[in-house]
Amino acid sequence: MAQADLIASPTSRKLRIFAFDPSVSGSFNTASIGEITISIPWETDLQPGPVGEYIEVVDADPASSAFYRPVDLNDRRILAQNGLAPSEASPQFHQQMVYAVAMTTIGHFEQALGRVALWSARRDGSEETFVRRLRIYPHALRDRNAYYSPAKKALLFGYFPVSIKNASNTPGTLVFTCLSHDIVAHETTHALLDGVHPRFNEPVNHDVLAFHEAFADIVALFQHFAYPGVLRDQIARTRGNLAGENLLGQLAQQFGAASGRGNALRDALGGKDPSTGIWSPHKPDVHALDQIHEPHDRGAILVAAVFGAFMKVYKARTADLYRIATEGTGVLREGDIHPDLAGRLADEAARSAFYILQMCIRAIDYCPPVGITFGDYLRAIVTADSDLNPDDPYGYRLAFVESFRQWGISPKGMRSMSVESLLWPTGDQAMDEAGVAIDNAEMNALVAVERAAYGYQGLTETKRRGQRVRLRPWDLDSNRYNTWEGVEKNSAALWAWLVNGPGKKLAPAIGIVLDHAIKNRRTIFRSPTTPGALAVEVHSVRTALRRTARGGTVSDLVVEITQRRRGYFEAAKQAAMDKGSGQPPDNGDFRYRAGCTLLIDPQTMTVRRVIKTVGDIADNGELERVRRFLTGDLEPNNAFGHARAAMMAREPFALLHRDGEG
Ligand SMILES: [Zn+2]
Repeated sequence: MAQADLIASPTSRKLRIFAFDPSVSGSFNTASIGEITISIPWETDLQPGPVGEYIEVVDADPASSAFYRPVDLNDRRILAQNGLAPSEASPQFHQQMVYAVAMTTIGHFEQALGRVALWSARRDGSEETFVRRLRIYPHALRDRNAYYSPAKKALLFGYFPVSIKNASNTPGTLVFTCLSHDIVAHETTHALLDGVHPRFNEPVNHDVLAFHEAFADIVALFQHFAYPGVLRDQIARTRGNLAGENLLGQLAQQFGAASGRGNALRDALGGKDPSTGIWSPHKPDVHALDQIHEPHDRGAILVAAVFGAFMKVYKARTADLYRIATEGTGVLREGDIHPDLAGRLADEAARSAFYILQMCIRAIDYCPPVGITFGDYLRAIVTADSDLNPDDPYGYRLAFVESFRQWGISPKGMRSMSVESLLWPTGDQAMDEAGVAIDNAEMNALVAVERAAYGYQGLTETKRRGQRVRLRPWDLDSNRYNTWEGVEKNSAALWAWLVNGPGKKLAPAIGIVLDHAIKNRRTIFRSPTTPGALAVEVHSVRTALRRTARGGTVSDLVVEITQRRRGYFEAAKQAAMDKGSGQPPDNGDFRYRAGCTLLIDPQTMTVRRVIKTVGDIADNGELERVRRFLTGDLEPNNAFGHARAAMMAREPFALLHRDGEG
């Protein structure tokens, strides 16, 4: 037998990256861990670029009309050294860095969501095309900016000469945003979130754009904390007290320094006492959200709330270690802590960070399809975790609820903030409330649809990948295209089930309006295929297979259903357009959308969770609220400008990032 047959393919590729942005790490006492080696899934046919299954690094530099030679990570000299050595001067290392960090972020999403990651489709009218690879341009702009472009399906990273203002650098040296782990992870997260929720860049309330920013920061920060050993130095230096360290502030400062983004994040988390120069975290402020509407500033509050939950969990998980180390007194002896203790505390911190990262990503399957609010996100985190891990020995869910309460984040109209009351309603609860019932045979018709569309082959492949995503060699001819195609087929079949089949009965329970004779709602879009019927869009039917803490698996169909309606900036015009029959003559000034996300258990054929938007498509009150938000009636400051501008912009994230104050 040939030797090749006896040797298993590698499962992971080790690559070196900068752990902390080299342009700012000098001033942060992080020199000893400036470089780390991370493991990413092995791609056998990885091409020079790197160009793999998910990513295509394109190193054109328009500002200097250069095209840098693409790195070949399969070169055996490079393989033998865990990648190129970190270097600010080598474009090939820059290519390696963006590839390694983006693949790590993709891996976290696949693990949390239990399925292969897909980028948002390219839309041309009603046509959608599969996007296999996200393009990454490490030297796209000579600008203090980096952003995700939904139109180009690309991440664009800028570089710029450092200014004299920045004391940690020699003026004239170049700062590369692609060398900041957190910026690369942040931009990749924007793209991944867009792949799941393409409507999350339509601002219809103050939280939507802030959520995109906050979520990208949360993933970047907790991915960073989850690398083994990254927190060890800080922990040793602060004798285990992470709250007493300007750690997050330092990381956040990297965003500000390297991307031209505001210092919102750093400032939301804490600050230095001007008289002592000692950093301390800000006390949570329940009124913080009332006045802050700019997306980064507002998003920073959500990040602070998640960080607060992390600190609570870290404390709970390390309480025993402190008891041992202090022999029950609770007071550590003077001097350095024992290196073993520092190591154990760092393990706990990394483990907590990883779990929180997974909770935060998993929750995006539990969000309403449009109009996300921070309160919705809290409910999503709590429900998703409760469905997957009913036991909660370290109190993660409670920590989230407590911290969010302290920051004044609560779901609209909820009287209680207990974990129990935050859970999204089950299918039975929603049907009881609406007075409808649907039996197993009727649900069966739906699940049959799903099985037929994927074919069992496809589902099994998805399953295997979901469970052991990091342990198997990734197949470059993997089923991402088939998965994408399956989503399309599923959507069509589910649409038929809901609009013309037994699923019709479910509509009132899930906030979908099918009554085509509804009065004074002429602006609701009608079906292009069934004359007179209200349009219903089934955007995505995703299969998720997640591993529970006990080693079992939970599978879900995640279904998003929306309807749309023409909105007009003038209330009188809206009323006039809504009267009468036939289609209005135009498409309106803005789009009002409503609908739901359903989680369906294909094994038991039950609707596990129903996540509705605040109002349905016929709800004039909600339409009015969106109108007032978009026309700026709700507050005097410039949130209106942001919302309108972002809605009209082709590059919503570039705009957001450039607006941050330096
Ligand atoms: Zn961003």
